[in-house]
Amino acid sequence: MTEFFDETAGILTIRRTGLLMRPGVVHAFTTRRSGFGEGPCSGLNLDFGKDIPPGSVYRNHFLLAAALGYSPFKAVRTRQVHGDSVREAKPEDSGLREHTAYECDALITDRPGVPLLVFSADCIPVLLYDPVKGAAAAIHSGWRGTAAGIAAKAVRAMRGRYGTFPGNLLAAIGPGIGPCCFETGEEVVRAIGALGFDVSGFIRKVPGEKWYVDLKGIIARTLEEEGLAGGNICADPECSRCLPSKYWSHRRSGQSRGVQAAVIMLK
Ligand SMILES: [Zn+2]
Repeated sequence: MTEFFDETAGILTIRRTGLLMRPGVVHAFTTRRSGFGEGPCSGLNLDFGKDIPPGSVYRNHFLLAAALGYSPFKAVRTRQVHGDSVREAKPEDSGLREHTAYECDALITDRPGVPLLVFSADCIPVLLYDPVKGAAAAIHSGWRGTAAGIAAKAVRAMRGRYGTFPGNLLAAIGPGIGPCCFETGEEVVRAIGALGFDVSGFIRKVPGEKWYVDLKGIIARTLEEEGLAGGNICADPECSRCLPSKYWSHRRSGQSRGVQAAVIMLK
C-alpha cells in the first residue's frame, strides 16, 4: 500500500506509490528516463531555467501531460526560491511555463483538473492528498524548506482554506537525496535542530565537522507532528544521488543537469 514502484506511462518511467492510487487523484514523480533533453540534460528535463533551447523542455512537458492525462496549459508550477511560502493555485497561474508573478515553494488547490508541479534534483518533493475534502498540495522541501517546516505550513494552509483534517491526509515523500549522500555542515544541523522536536535520530555525525542528514525522515516526522497518521505517510527510499541513470542530482552534477518533477492533480 505504501510502497513506491516504477511504472511505465506512455514512453516515460515514473515513480508512484500505492498510497496515492485513489480514484480522486492522479500523481507521479518523474525520472529522467526517456524524454527529449540533450547533453547533461538528456532525458525528461522539465526545467526551462537551464541554458538550453526551450523546445525540448516544452516537448517534455507535453509528453508528461499526455502520459498522465492532463492539459499542460492548465498546469500550475512553483517558482522555487528555497523559501517556505505556500500559494493557493489560482486560475491565472496556469500556463506552459513557470509563472513570474509569484515565488513559492508549495502549491495547494481544491480545483479538479489543475495539475500542481514542483521540481527537484536532490531536494525532496512531497505530495499531499485529502480524500475527504478533495484537496491537494505539492511541496518542494530542500534543507532550508525542511528546516522552515514547509510541509507543516502546507498542511496548515489546507486546513485554513479547505477545512482539511490532518488525520485524513495522505502524504507521499518522493525520491530525493537520502541519508547515504546528504553530507552537510553545521549550519544545516543547527537549522534543522530548531524544528521543535527531537531530530537526533535523523542526524549522523561522522569524523570531522560533517553530518549526514535524513531529510525524508525529518519531513515525515514534521507531518506526524502536524497531526498526520504515521500509516498515512510514505517515503521513497530511492536516493537521487545514488542513481545517476534515473535521477538528476545537484550534489553529483552541480548546475550541469536537468530536474525531475512531482505532479498531483485532483480528478
Ligand atoms: Zn545516496
